[in-house]
Amino acid sequence: MSKIWLKNEKKVFLANFSGSSMVKDSDNIYSMINDFWRKKTYVKEEDKLLPMHEQEFLEPYRVAQSYCGGTWNDYNTPFAIQVGACNLNCFWCFVSDDLREGKIGDYFTVKDVIEMWRKNENKGVLRITGGEPFLAPEFLIEIGKELKKLKERQRYLWIDTNLLGKNYDNVAKTLSDLEIPFGICGCFKGFDKETFRFNTNAPKDLFDKQFINARTILNNLYNNGELFFYVPEILENINETEIEKKIINFYEQITSKVHELAPLRVTVLKIKSYEANKDKLDFKRLESGLTRNLWLKYLKTKYTIDLIWLPQYQIKLKR
Ligand code: SF4
Repeated sequence: MSKIWLKNEKKVFLANFSGSSMVKDSDNIYSMINDFWRKKTYVKEEDKLLPMHEQEFLEPYRVAQSYCGGTWNDYNTPFAIQVGACNLNCFWCFVSDDLREGKIGDYFTVKDVIEMWRKNENKGVLRITGGEPFLAPEFLIEIGKELKKLKERQRYLWIDTNLLGKNYDNVAKTLSDLEIPFGICGCFKGFDKETFRFNTNAPKDLFDKQFINARTILNNLYNNGELFFYVPEILENINETEIEKKIINFYEQITSKVHELAPLRVTVLKIKSYEANKDKLDFKRLESGLTRNLWLKYLKTKYTIDLIWLPQYQIKLKR
């Protein structure tokens, strides 16, 4: 694996997208800027008339608008970069093995990243995804410092993580103290230890570590900054009753270890077919969105409808 962060040069290792299967995804529109930067459209033209509850994914455009002003459409096509390595190996991962293993990429300074974003966009979201961005926590801090210098209002920073990276306390505290608008999205890799193991083939104890890291982030968002969560739909071929048991387990873990309202900031992630995973899953079986439906059904037994219908960023997660 390549070194992810070069301390002296302040350079990060970014994945080369031309080697990523994501660019072959036929139902998303990617306009390639070059091999290392891409733009993705969240809400596509054909989806604009769907009611809000039909939207499948938590996406940053709404929270970005609430922090930075303008219209939600100003944030609908984020500028994305991928840190070019990961510490997990989810069997349904949407990026190529080479990307996960840190084999396809190159080094860029923090200034390169900011300049490329500014050259192509005068506002919007910078989305740092992976791979695993928190393998390069120094990079995230340096990006925050550069954004602070810009003093441009309509720029929002969004960082994805598998909640098993490094230095969550320092990154969250520094970005929060800088008072730049930003959000962190933590993706739990399972509803319980078994699904975590099934998805990642990593030691089961890391499942608990994800909750500890989520709480650490929350503890350090002193001044500002938002925290959201993904959890992938259950992929094991099990019946509804068993899925419900796993959902209850996840609800109990996240409410006791992170925050009692944290489930309302969770989006059940639909696993989509990409070049990298198309032979690994029965996508027809997954079409039903069963996990997501059962999750929402369970939330209705725990929270009022008013709370469930609030946009996620309006759910207050007090420290
Ligand atoms: S954490 Fe994300 S990038 Fe890493 S293996 Fe899992 S799905 Fe792929």
